[in-house]
Amino acid sequence: DLGACDREVTSVCPYCGVGCQLTFKVRDDRIVWVEGADGPANRNRLCVKGRFGFDYVAHPHRLTRPLIRRPDAPPKGLNVDPANPWTHFREASWDEALDVAAAGLARLREAHGGRAVAGFGSAKCSNEEAYLFQKLIRQGFGHNNVDHCTRLCHASSVAALLENVGSGAVTATFNEIENADVAIVIGANPVENHPVAATWFKRFAKRGGKLIVMDPRGVGLRRHAWKMLQFRPGSDVAMLNAIMHVIVEEELYDAEFIARFTENWDEMKAHLRAFPPEKMADLCGIDAQTLREVARAFAGARAGMIFWGMGVSQHVHGTDNSRCLISLALMCGHVGRPGTGLHPLRGQNNVQGASDAGLIPMFLPDYQSVTDDGVRSAFAEIWGSGDWSAEKGLTVVEIMDAIHDGAIRGMYILGENPAMSDPDLSHARAALARLEHLVVQDIFLTETANYADVILPAAAWPEKTGTVTNTNRQVQMGRPAVPPPGEAREDWRIIVDLANRLGLDWRYAHPRDVFAEMKRGMKSLDNITWERLEREAVTYPSLSPDDPGQAIVFGNGFPRPEGRARFTPAKVTPPAETPDDEYPLILTTGRQLEHWHTGSMTRRSRALDAIEPEANASLHPRTLARLGAKPGDMLRIETRRGAIRIMARADRAVAEDMVFMPFAYVEAAANILTNPKLDPFGKIPEFKFAACRVTPE
Ligand code: SF4
Repeated sequence: DLGACDREVTSVCPYCGVGCQLTFKVRDDRIVWVEGADGPANRNRLCVKGRFGFDYVAHPHRLTRPLIRRPDAPPKGLNVDPANPWTHFREASWDEALDVAAAGLARLREAHGGRAVAGFGSAKCSNEEAYLFQKLIRQGFGHNNVDHCTRLCHASSVAALLENVGSGAVTATFNEIENADVAIVIGANPVENHPVAATWFKRFAKRGGKLIVMDPRGVGLRRHAWKMLQFRPGSDVAMLNAIMHVIVEEELYDAEFIARFTENWDEMKAHLRAFPPEKMADLCGIDAQTLREVARAFAGARAGMIFWGMGVSQHVHGTDNSRCLISLALMCGHVGRPGTGLHPLRGQNNVQGASDAGLIPMFLPDYQSVTDDGVRSAFAEIWGSGDWSAEKGLTVVEIMDAIHDGAIRGMYILGENPAMSDPDLSHARAALARLEHLVVQDIFLTETANYADVILPAAAWPEKTGTVTNTNRQVQMGRPAVPPPGEAREDWRIIVDLANRLGLDWRYAHPRDVFAEMKRGMKSLDNITWERLEREAVTYPSLSPDDPGQAIVFGNGFPRPEGRARFTPAKVTPPAETPDDEYPLILTTGRQLEHWHTGSMTRRSRALDAIEPEANASLHPRTLARLGAKPGDMLRIETRRGAIRIMARADRAVAEDMVFMPFAYVEAAANILTNPKLDPFGKIPEFKFAACRVTPE
């Protein structure tokens, strides 16, 4: 009976960075259905995840009481049944669990120094929770070894944006595509990963906008594209430099914008001479004529936008890929006006907000450098105390290496699942098993919680209060629709309780108190108050208490010296490993529409799991035929790091030398196969390219 509900609560979708507002319809303290609400990013629309992916909240696997590992438990490994964890764990009171969690971390701090403990926070938590988590590691352990999943998603994009335009966030909302006449979508599959944003892109194409889609996979938007450039995996820099070469050669650039707002143009021009399309065509697999047409269309546009995803960022040359996109927009003057802009489509619902809140090892809130003494003392003053290292902390993958080296012995992991999401999972899982003390805080007994010493049961997103920031820089209020199950608690409360047991003196009665403190150190929150957010979404920066916020920024210069953005030339760097006789195919990974990241929520949502119940790998039908396999057959996929068994799916959109796998399935975990090699600037691993071989079973 969908007609009857006793309560309606408007909040924000827990999944992707689009940040759709939705209304939970509640009966007897259970969400019974969901409708789209009129948020600035979605205007009542929802995708299948937002609409049907809510019943995980009431799943019987929810953690309802704190758990402590039994002294006689089997050795740590991926060996716990979430429905029956009692051979490994016993229930405990909150007081006991928090005491044990804090005592273990404190013991390591005393014996080996604060650096022996690292933290992974979560892009699935609120801004306030992300802020408290990074504060706990910095103030409580004296260093910056705190990170979250942005490292696996857009860290390289942020590195390039900070370097060249002075800000890591988007320069324009995706809705600005309504005012563009040409748009490039590269290395992104918004039809599956940002589905509501994709509806704007499709509408843009329908009204005659020139949509240029660039991706090694023939992603869903290709049906709406003016041009589809299915380039060779890993050849982004060659292709983009060739396009920019044409713009320079044919003098299609915006000389006035370049002179007024940029630096290093002469070096860029000289660098691009080496990339004529005729020379790059073979390398990137796109003919020179098409590269020239795309260059002319984008440079000749009245207003052009560039959107990108993890197909750009998750490479050892991810930062270089983003540098090229930034340079392309700058040379055409496509930043700072209606219908123009640079927009890395953010993944998780709060990856933008968690990054803004300082949940990263090199920056305090608002991307203020940890190496700056003035910044650290300003935060120490706001926090009342604190004297922590000026050294940049370790990133997600580096922390796993440091565990193997013995430098890190304990971790506090909140709402992250590195036992599924890290590259080279065998290495990551072995690291988790080595930890002397692991505290995991989550809503389910995740694969990572299998390795925990203490598990703290948290409230899910529809059970808590807090603000969240989407890909558009829109700050919105998340509201509780239902109570947490059993004794589960909101994350911010648990962090505060742990902090106080670790010797800090934190007094917050409500997330609004945390938000008020954040505002003292974050200029991006000027004119944005908790009370305002209870009434409306606000896009930062907001210039006055009445300003709904700036959809477009940098109309009058950039937050860099002399207000100038920078051209940073990028050279062609090959992937970290290339196919050979032993491993002749290219493995690439990503998400699929119905499943979110490591699957802990969506695989526990009945409708979503019914649509996509099984792990699958997509190959071109001709590749399958060549291998002697057909759709539905089981395949063995191997890389230099491991092997998995998985069902074959035929997909003509996948290039003939490629294999595509989603990473949501524990029984065929794609990240057993992926390469942990890092981009040197963003420290992001190369999820999008690994050499593999496929054998039918
Ligand atoms: Fe949720 Fe993203 Fe779908 Fe919107 S597009 S409903 S935010 S998953």
